[in-house]
Amino acid sequence: MSCDFGQLAMEGVRILSPYQPGKPIEELQRELGLDDIVKLASNENPLGPSQAVLDACNSNLGNLCRYPDSNGFALKAALSAELVIDTAQIVLGCGSNDVLDLIARTFLGPGSSAIYSRHAFIVYPIAVQAVGARAIVTAAKDWGHDLDAMAAAIADDTRVIFLANPNNPTGTSFTHSEFTGFMEKVPDNVVVVLDEAYFEYATNGEHPDGIALLKQYPNLIVTRTFSKAYGLAALRVGYGVANTEIIDLLNRVRAPFNINSLALAAAEAVLTDKQYLAESRRINVLGMQQVVEGVAALQLPYIDSAGNFLTVGFEQEALGIYQALLQQGVIVRPIGVYEMPRHLRVSIGLPEENEKFLSALKSVL
Ligand SMILES: *Cc1c(COP(=O)(O)O)cnc(C)c1O
Repeated sequence: MSCDFGQLAMEGVRILSPYQPGKPIEELQRELGLDDIVKLASNENPLGPSQAVLDACNSNLGNLCRYPDSNGFALKAALSAELVIDTAQIVLGCGSNDVLDLIARTFLGPGSSAIYSRHAFIVYPIAVQAVGARAIVTAAKDWGHDLDAMAAAIADDTRVIFLANPNNPTGTSFTHSEFTGFMEKVPDNVVVVLDEAYFEYATNGEHPDGIALLKQYPNLIVTRTFSKAYGLAALRVGYGVANTEIIDLLNRVRAPFNINSLALAAAEAVLTDKQYLAESRRINVLGMQQVVEGVAALQLPYIDSAGNFLTVGFEQEALGIYQALLQQGVIVRPIGVYEMPRHLRVSIGLPEENEKFLSALKSVL
């Protein structure tokens, strides 16, 4: 007689499905033996890492036998100067994903609830369910967050609201005044998480800057990452910014040494490389225009995106198109798990990568 370990697991964990990442290039290489593969599936920076990052990693290799600085002193100092905030307002995470988890573990559990939107970033349901909290999922509006519906959904046991701006996988965003209007309706004892993973790409002047709003809203936590515009996805480093009391709580649950020393050094280095960030933005604006025009020329609908990816609609289930694109060496992201089975999400790449995607898409259709 063997134990049914499923019965031992917490109920929230039993109903979880594992996160489905974009298909790695090496996996498709193994499966199809293709050499020329373009991965536009995980919203990574197509420029490759900054030279400043490579130099910083190289000069830290000799210390790999040491534990990293668990408090991330140097990176926090650099962030504090960059963002004009106190270092005690920063929590560092192994990716901003880690920060989202810390927030769930700090504020949620059985007997409390969290709110997020339909089609919002899938880490929210995972983080909420894993700690046994109740999820309140609000209907989307034009694929984006319906902030009025989210404010109206606040229940007595609601502790946290997750917002992604821009949202992944839809690319939708809300404006400064929409956000402040929403915050005015949220009681002080509900924590609002503003996930700004794509903040650096959002060029619209109406886009809110969460960090600038922290003084106004003590119940606001802003999360950002080095994985996207800063090109450090492999190293796993992100951060949360909030009032010092909230940050102190998050640091109590944070695992010691959650950011490795190469990641700390790399993140600090890339913050000084203003040219890299400017180039990341420039290449994204150009690529977005290229992909939008290409998709429109194929008469396919798409969702306007403020991020570094575009979500394209099809008349039928899109999994077949995804698979046909794989055969041509193009990896995009099916988003059926986001209840969007007729859409595919494509990350904006270098001009030649975008071109390969568009011509593959044309031949597949
Ligand atoms: C990519 C992403 C993140 C975080 O990624 P990390 O690599 O863990 O920093 C967070 N939120 C959204 C909406 C994302 O798309």
